[in-house]
Amino acid sequence: MSTEPLVDFDELLTRYEPVIGLETHVELGTASKMFCGCSTTFGAEPNTQTCPVCLGLPGSLPVANEMAIESTIRIGLALGCRIATWCRFARKNYFYPDIPKGFQTTQYDEPLCTAGHLDVEVDGETYRVEIERVHLEEDTGKNLHVGGATGRIHGADHSLIDYNRAGIPLVEIVTRPIPGAGAKAPEVARAYVTELREILLALGVSEVRMEQGNLRSDVNTSLAPIGSLEWGTRTETKNVNSLRSVERAVRFEMRRQAAVLDAGERVVQETRHFHEDTATTSSGRSKEEATDYRYFPEPDLVPVAPDEEWVAKLGATLPELPAARRARLTEEWGLSPTEMAWLVNAGALGLVSDTVAAGASPADARKWWLGELARRANDAGVELSELSVTPQQVAQLAGLVSAGTINDQLARQALDGVLAGEGDPAAVVEARGLAVMGESDELVAAVDAAIEANPDVADKVRGGKVQAIGALVGAVMKTTRGKADAATVKRMLEERLS
Ligand SMILES: [Zn+2]
Repeated sequence: MSTEPLVDFDELLTRYEPVIGLETHVELGTASKMFCGCSTTFGAEPNTQTCPVCLGLPGSLPVANEMAIESTIRIGLALGCRIATWCRFARKNYFYPDIPKGFQTTQYDEPLCTAGHLDVEVDGETYRVEIERVHLEEDTGKNLHVGGATGRIHGADHSLIDYNRAGIPLVEIVTRPIPGAGAKAPEVARAYVTELREILLALGVSEVRMEQGNLRSDVNTSLAPIGSLEWGTRTETKNVNSLRSVERAVRFEMRRQAAVLDAGERVVQETRHFHEDTATTSSGRSKEEATDYRYFPEPDLVPVAPDEEWVAKLGATLPELPAARRARLTEEWGLSPTEMAWLVNAGALGLVSDTVAAGASPADARKWWLGELARRANDAGVELSELSVTPQQVAQLAGLVSAGTINDQLARQALDGVLAGEGDPAAVVEARGLAVMGESDELVAAVDAAIEANPDVADKVRGGKVQAIGALVGAVMKTTRGKADAATVKRMLEERLS
């Protein structure tokens, strides 16, 4: 728990201007590792997916994974980057147990993609995030610190290393510093990672499961007095692995650094750890300079030289990107930008889009996913996409309502059945006998019984107090367990009581 003094967020904005920047690592979803044929499947027994190459054994030789290079170029193109016509891998030398070779194979001064941008929207305002570089490297192994209370090395009595992750292709996407976001800096950081994740999903290059560490961001934050010509010293909060945490890490660092500056001290340039439980950061190590790593071109790998034709071919495989898709659907569905933002924030855009594709009207699809289903997901504490109902089933449900087979209330009961695994809505309606009652003998009997059981109410209606009829409609709906059509019941009652 941090005991460092913090300045109130709104107050610090009256004196300081933040600059943020993000370095995001994405594990590519290739079947094999970056420089060897080992599998990349998540969750295997420790150290079962290794070989002499990814263990850095003497005499082993790496070969670059073509699919990983393709994916990186596609990411670069989606971000509007220039693609290098010739570039090399480099060795970044450092000793750490999770890096068995004693160096990481990465790209240094010759990245594959440079000079792109990504526009993100926060509260209706667009912020352009300049992308400095997109390069390819390999992931490290994973340390497991055993015996301590926190799982960190501090307090542990021994550590285990799993090299299954060592050598998995990793793309690093580095932004240029982002000034000018002011109070919105934490949200811009979050919006950037959110949009980047959407693009990576659309490209199909990674599963981008943040909880599995497929995507993690290092968040740079600095503060300078308003009007200052120089930017402040930045800190780098490492490996932030949820969208919410990206926003919280920026917010915390702004508040902490403001207190340091207010006290007349200097912000230390260092890496910091983010703590999910308290939404605070704590000091890591002081930041190494590039010269500490003794970078040099990797002698065991041939240079990468994507020719124009190949790059053009990859460019032609780019899908419709998320921003363009949102703009198109906003138009097609007749939504306001705010309504589209709600859909996106609820994580419902894909689901609604699939439901529309399955035959529902956009209005019905939105109504079900943002209404009843959002409520149920919220009650169950799960994401919308985790509910056991498919867009096709929701479309079928909406179809049954618009055909008059069931009403909204019965549809909610049908949904109970679908979520309980009883099958498609039509099957549940059939099995549970949920169809709306027509003007059957049963309904006539129920209407007559309601009048008979409530003679005083019936008299009121006959005497002109028409609104009293609601109580009778309610009584009929109750005896028919919601299966009657309320409008039909009302009309039948009116006929009898006029
Ligand atoms: Zn290997």
